[in-house]
Amino acid sequence: MPGHLLILGGTTEARQLAAELTGPGGDATTRVTTSLAGRVARPRMPAGDVRVGGFGGPEGLADWLRTHGVDTVIDATHPFADTISANAAMAAKTTGTRLFALRRPGWTAGPGDRWHPADDLTHAAARLPALGRRIFLTTGRLGLAAFVTAPGADRLHFLVRSVEPPEPPLPRHTDVLLDRGPYTVEGETALLRDHAIGVLVTKDSGGPATAAKLTAARNLGLPVVVVRRPPPPDGVPVVHDVPSALQLLGRESLFSRDAADKYP
Ligand code: NAP
Repeated sequence: MPGHLLILGGTTEARQLAAELTGPGGDATTRVTTSLAGRVARPRMPAGDVRVGGFGGPEGLADWLRTHGVDTVIDATHPFADTISANAAMAAKTTGTRLFALRRPGWTAGPGDRWHPADDLTHAAARLPALGRRIFLTTGRLGLAAFVTAPGADRLHFLVRSVEPPEPPLPRHTDVLLDRGPYTVEGETALLRDHAIGVLVTKDSGGPATAAKLTAARNLGLPVVVVRRPPPPDGVPVVHDVPSALQLLGRESLFSRDAADKYP
């Protein structure tokens, strides 16, 4: 086990990993620090040490790794947080620090799904006028400018759901719903019906906490625009679940599927 392990967090998996590493089966000689970006006013706090806020680019992160004697970094950030992932890859290279990524698998379409892949938010916005008029936008609080400038956007109505208030500019016809998962299929179905939603837009975030909207859309026969993930940085090993991360760290996995319920 490493002496000081830095988890780049902000995800359920990052909290699960921190809890496992600092829990009853943990190794008291290993210090575990989770780093949060500081975007959410009241974040769910991970176990172990926590630091909050940006590092100041790859150089700032490299300095932090040196100053705090970090020997292993686990990039457990959200699959769409590609700047911090690229910074981690650069900082690990310059400092010779071990790095791997923990990325939950993406979602896959099943029978009855009407998914329309999009390369990014701009591409997603361009697809909308052909699919419907009332849009449920669940891509987060940033990047909504893409939906302001898209051809035909003025004729669309958006329901935007995010944890923190979305950052302007917002599309002309927008309602905002502040909420955070986990969500249920019943709740998501009622929401889609109550707002007469015709199209769902989502990132391919993966994981169970926000997957209920996909089932609800399938049950209602709605099209879903799914934004593809950015690729992980070249050369960084990737594991897809907490037990695999623990195994790479030389820790017998005490993690059980039931344990996931402890960290919604
Ligand atoms: P991003 O675009 O990849 O990163 C932008 C900047 O935020 C980074 O350059 C870094 O600043 C800082 N940062 C990001 N994650 C950090 C962390 N864990 N610890 C310290 N600094 C961090 O990130 P983002 O997409 O805005 O996401 C921010 C955080 O929210 C991530 O930690 C991610 O896990 C979480 N999150 C993101 C999404 C999403 O859809 N993107 C969804 C759910 C949760 P410096 O350059 O100054 O170091």
